[in-house]
Amino acid sequence: MRPCSIDDCTTPAQPRHAFCEKHSTRIRRWGDPDFTQWTVADDMDVQLLIEQQRVPEGATRLERRLIAVGLSERGMSAARVAEVVAVDPRTVHRWRAKTRQTAA
Ligand SMILES: [Zn+2]
Repeated sequence: MRPCSIDDCTTPAQPRHAFCEKHSTRIRRWGDPDFTQWTVADDMDVQLLIEQQRVPEGATRLERRLIAVGLSERGMSAARVAEVVAVDPRTVHRWRAKTRQTAA
């Protein structure tokens, strides 16, 4: 199977598509296959998703990070945050550390 066309995405592309399901969703949502995933975040969405403790399929990397940090600030463990946001726990630790650096 071909990998997704998005850089550093290791998910296989959907049959007859250039992108994985997640990225296809993003392209549908924003209508832009070239958008920079780090720069797109809907603040209303993020606050709501932190409340609901969930991350939708089409969430951008930045949205995931903001949700992860928001959940961490509410006292959720890194392991649990990683599960909700669907990233490696080490990524959660890195995001937390970066956020602390930025805030300091
Ligand atoms: Zn992808």
